[in-house]
Amino acid sequence: MESCVNVAPGIYQVRLPLPFALRIVNCYLLQDDTGWTIVDSGLNRSESQVVWQSACAMLQIRPADITRIVLTHFHPDHYGLAGWLQEWTSGETPVYMSPREAELASEVWGRADRGPEPMAALFSSHGVPKERLESMAVELGRLRRMTLPHPCVTHLEPGTTLHMGGRAFQAIYAPGHSDGQLVFYSPDDRLILCGDQVLIKITPHIGLWPESEPDPLGRYLNSLHALADLDVQLGLPGHGPLIHDWQTRLAELEHHHALRLEQMGALVRGGVTGYTVGRQVFDFDKLTPHEMRFAVAETVAHLELLVARERLRRTYDGVWIYHQAVEDTRG
Ligand SMILES: [Zn+2]
Repeated sequence: MESCVNVAPGIYQVRLPLPFALRIVNCYLLQDDTGWTIVDSGLNRSESQVVWQSACAMLQIRPADITRIVLTHFHPDHYGLAGWLQEWTSGETPVYMSPREAELASEVWGRADRGPEPMAALFSSHGVPKERLESMAVELGRLRRMTLPHPCVTHLEPGTTLHMGGRAFQAIYAPGHSDGQLVFYSPDDRLILCGDQVLIKITPHIGLWPESEPDPLGRYLNSLHALADLDVQLGLPGHGPLIHDWQTRLAELEHHHALRLEQMGALVRGGVTGYTVGRQVFDFDKLTPHEMRFAVAETVAHLELLVARERLRRTYDGVWIYHQAVEDTRG
């Protein structure tokens, strides 16, 4: 597969390899009269650096022609190479992120003293057995190394208009997948750089993590609702194929979560943990420990929305236990 492809006038998609099941992250190069903007960066691994260097060589872009780096969110596959790119370009190329994402990047990746404890505490409070938590420290260390060096970040407020790729893009706050994710919409040619908020073939991960604000799924569904008001003819996502039918995909994602909410809500019988519900939906024995945690985070995000909707309630007894809200009166 080509690693650098023209996807719209003045916009190139750069596909960087990832050492995960999610094999590729899509980043973008946007051409302006005075230079180029990079949107999202990849993980800092030599494989990613080589792809950026050859994409730039192919388009005859010198490092100094890159005038700006914009990041949709702080996840390592989007943020990880930004520091290296900042260095490689001019050393002073601004790296833009929303204030909330910048805060998350420094909290999660920036503190070498932040061990796996917050994550272990969250997952054990949702019933994940200790032996399933063990590989976490190694994995976090590995991810953190692929986000170094950290860029010097400039805040980009939601609502700002950015001129890139010969267009005016509105920076739109799109939480849920990450608390402060920004997506970039160009009304003139109905194009959106949608980060990981809307993907096809896979559903974006919506999970409760130690650093998450409450009810990520509720905020995600509200965001989808707001994004459905946009007139979009082409979505440029962070992973997977281009999105040509925006409204249909939004409706499918909403439907997916409505079904999951129903399914998970129905699995709450008596008092159960998020882990117990999750293992009935996902086959934990077939998942790596990393994938299992994503499955639990996703389960808990659904259960928390059902609590917010007062369909479930939860109690704490060393672990969080979910109950039907009206179970007691039904007998
Ligand atoms: Zn991603």
